[in-house]
Amino acid sequence: MEGELLELVDIRRSYGDGPSAVEVLHGITLSIRRGEMVAIIGPSGSGKSTLMNIIGCLDRPTSGSYEVSGRDTSNMEPDELAALRRDFFGFIFQRYLLLSNLNASENVQVPSIYSGYRRDKRAERAGMLLERLGLGERKSYSPSQLSGGQQQRVSIARALMNGGQIILADEPTGALDTKSGEEVMKILTELNSEGHTVILVTHDPRIAAHARRVITIRDGSVVSDKVNEEVSDAASSGAAKSAGAIPDVSLKRAWSTSARAYMDRFSEAGAMALRSMVSNRMRTLLTMLGIIIGIMAVVMVVALARGASDNIISNISSMGTNTISVMPGERMGDVRSGKVRSLKISDMNALRGQPFVDSVSPVVQSSVLFRRDNIENTGTVYGISADYFRVYGMELARGRLFTQSEASGNQQVCVIDAKTASSMFPGVDPIGRKLIVKTTPMLVVGVLTEKDIMFRPRDALYVYAPYSTVMHKMSNQDYLSTLIVRIAAGFSTPVAEASLVSLLKARHGRKDFFIQSSDTIMKTISQTTSTFTLLISAIAVISLLVGGIGVMNIMLVSVTERTREIGIRMAVGARQSDIMTQFLIEAVTVCITGGLAGVLLSLVAGKVVMLFFPSVPLSFSALSIIVAVLTSSAIGMVFGFMPARNAARLDPIEALARE
Ligand code: ADP
Ligand code: MG
Repeated sequence: MEGELLELVDIRRSYGDGPSAVEVLHGITLSIRRGEMVAIIGPSGSGKSTLMNIIGCLDRPTSGSYEVSGRDTSNMEPDELAALRRDFFGFIFQRYLLLSNLNASENVQVPSIYSGYRRDKRAERAGMLLERLGLGERKSYSPSQLSGGQQQRVSIARALMNGGQIILADEPTGALDTKSGEEVMKILTELNSEGHTVILVTHDPRIAAHARRVITIRDGSVVSDKVNEEVSDAASSGAAKSAGAIPDVSLKRAWSTSARAYMDRFSEAGAMALRSMVSNRMRTLLTMLGIIIGIMAVVMVVALARGASDNIISNISSMGTNTISVMPGERMGDVRSGKVRSLKISDMNALRGQPFVDSVSPVVQSSVLFRRDNIENTGTVYGISADYFRVYGMELARGRLFTQSEASGNQQVCVIDAKTASSMFPGVDPIGRKLIVKTTPMLVVGVLTEKDIMFRPRDALYVYAPYSTVMHKMSNQDYLSTLIVRIAAGFSTPVAEASLVSLLKARHGRKDFFIQSSDTIMKTISQTTSTFTLLISAIAVISLLVGGIGVMNIMLVSVTERTREIGIRMAVGARQSDIMTQFLIEAVTVCITGGLAGVLLSLVAGKVVMLFFPSVPLSFSALSIIVAVLTSSAIGMVFGFMPARNAARLDPIEALARE
């Protein structure tokens, strides 16, 4: 029939399951026409609120059919019901149910956020409604700054925000003094005369007397349904056609496009998240702590690992990547290698003739006493050939290097490092002076620039002398400690290695030496650092996991704590996805903020470390920072998901009932 807006047929509602189920509504059949003003009256506990919640699509009947504007609601999805609540109904509750951390105007705007109403139009319309309800001066007041009557007027404005064709008021005056109650009733009557359908629940006959139609229910059944001829309503005066004093037309035009509406809902959810983070500062900080520490650990450790390996690699490349060291013994760390005397000068000469060899330098080393006048120091003398300086990229500060013929001809010349120059020749130029090495006076011909050589202690003194001189006069040995071979251009390290090994094996009759190329050192080191990084990353992942679980815990608590907020949002038309988005964004925002804080703190910590311990190698990489922030948002997503889903799946009516 034309004008039937709401049609309830044999509606039943039971609470509980099976034999313990209690039926609260026993087959209610009624229809309500557009523009009617209906009061549902009955004693406390008679089922009025239960009925009202079913009418408002907050709750579903256990059986029976309910049609809204000709559409059957029994098979509707939760989001379709949310759409009806959003666009059709406007709820007014006894306890106002405003969101306490939003101001009056923001509270009024909540339903329109979920329907994608444009932001600027939204604030304008909320302002207009509040003004009309006499709250123009209090738009930015928070609910706690408003009286009960004022809060109820804010909630009426909220009910009208999306049009509010059907206004559902459950004991709207129940918590108010008589005067404020009268004001609220006056507003509802006015709204009805402008065309809004008003359904009002009360236990008070004086309030019910404002309505033209009064339905009495007792113990879950309708006992009377009367029309009070003395009162008129929009339906009886024919004003129902123009439903809504604030014209629907302008409202429709203000809807923004769906993409924009989506973006807007998203940014609203972000703003809500920030607001709730700020209002729970301490909790937010503690929640973030796990993430902050985890991210800091990752960023710092990666920086340290990178710094260390950069350092080592640059050291190695300074020594040239195309060298092979040949050492006596069977392998690195062979305890007998000091006694193995297999490497001879003749080996060096044999290698010199090979096509894959660019140059060869022997190394014999000996720990000796350096003397000059009354200055004495222990240090190391290296017996080498002139090629050695080239192999290790050592540079002269002053003087000259010794020549190949000096190297093989037992000449008493030497090149000293910067440290030896400063400690053995304080205040004088060492070039042209004599230094007594063990017992042999040696002429200093050159001084090297200061340079760290890998794997050598910094403060030790080094003197470089011809290998022949060292072998005969200082260490009295006819074997070499090491042979350093520089590979000729055009030969690859592995090929050169293989030829070298087979040559020396043939000469010695067995493999009593081992080789080490800078390539293999580099490989070993990068392998070690990557193992190290992997290990530390595993620890970091675990700490991030723990941080994530912390976030999840807090979010779960937060959902429980804010059940009522969720209920209110659902009552005014939030979709499940809106609730889900809000909580997910909150979790992600917490985690990203934590992640950024962690990155920032580690950069600060890095600066401090570099200031006080300049030798600690730290190299922050942009990539690790980006990955850290992405990781923290992923943690937010993953660990925020369950709490967010729990929130979204709450039953609106149960959520509202919880305190
Ligand atoms: P009214 O609003 O008329 O005071 P209600 O509709 O709130 O009454 O409640 C009607 C009856 O349903 C009461 O007996 C109440 O105890 C019961 N009831 C309401 N909600 C629930 C619920 N969630 N679980 C079980 N019983 C409920
Ligand atoms: Mg009630």
